[in-house]
Amino acid sequence: MDVIATPRITREIVHKYGLNIRKSLGQNFLIEPKFIQKIIDAAGLDQNKVVVEIGPGIGALTQALATHAGYVIAVEIDQGLTRVLKEIFAPVSNVTIVHGDAMKVNFDQLVAEVPHRQEPPFPYKIVANLPYYITTPMIMRLLEEGFQFSSLVLMVQREVAQRIMAHPATKDYGALSIGVQYHCSPSLVSLVPPTVFHPRPEVDSAIIKLEKREHPAVHVSDERLFFSLVKAAFNQRRKTLLNALSNSGLLLSKNSWQEVLIESGIDPQRRGETLNLEEFASLANLLGRKR
Ligand code: SAM
Repeated sequence: MDVIATPRITREIVHKYGLNIRKSLGQNFLIEPKFIQKIIDAAGLDQNKVVVEIGPGIGALTQALATHAGYVIAVEIDQGLTRVLKEIFAPVSNVTIVHGDAMKVNFDQLVAEVPHRQEPPFPYKIVANLPYYITTPMIMRLLEEGFQFSSLVLMVQREVAQRIMAHPATKDYGALSIGVQYHCSPSLVSLVPPTVFHPRPEVDSAIIKLEKREHPAVHVSDERLFFSLVKAAFNQRRKTLLNALSNSGLLLSKNSWQEVLIESGIDPQRRGETLNLEEFASLANLLGRKR
């Protein structure tokens, strides 16, 4: 089989199957093997590993994954593309194409059901050149639902990569940084220019790796409360922590917040965006005991 990730073969596949490239589904296909290789290297695959790909498109990445991993399960939402992929990968014995919405499928179940030879299939890897319109909810779903994968290698918009890896007191730091860093240790694999996609997106991209932590980065007794607190602190990020939290509805009075903040050793006049994970955790844990 020819390498799919080239401008010529991509054009040929689009023409042969009369494909309408759907911008609304974030369809930007990789046409540069160098960047496919960077994703493969970062994923750390071998012939014993099962890998799930989200959004295979016309199979540019799927093809390389099939060479380097033991088994590939690729989940594509576009029915037309699913048919094309099934035809392209019919001769490849270690690839299963699944028609489905990655915001809804149970990845653990897909891995458990597929007839792979590898034992055991868990934990598996997830790799995706993500559709940018659902990047954040997709990442948060993968992290919050407790699926049994060990790492994610993702192509995302460059700004999203910056937000994921941001440190406290920077403009990119926010609820997404905390949500991801709580579950994973993130690293930048490569920046990616628009020229390596067909069609070209209007934004720069980046490949990142999220290595799932064995335990969350900080101890939190009530995760829901922890994330409500984070959300409240960043909802009004230009305000002092005292004012932002007083409007959050999590505690009744401003005075109570003043006390809780001081007891946690956090200056109420600070802005929420300056707090690190440990500080958010100790504040949430104290708040949990007070409520
Ligand atoms: N992996 C291919 C590549 O690198 O060339 C295509 C990547 S393209 C950026 C994103 C793909 O995700 C498209 O094929 C799109 O149809 C698919 N997609 C969009 N939303 C999806 C969803 N909710 N579940 C599964 N696939 C989705």
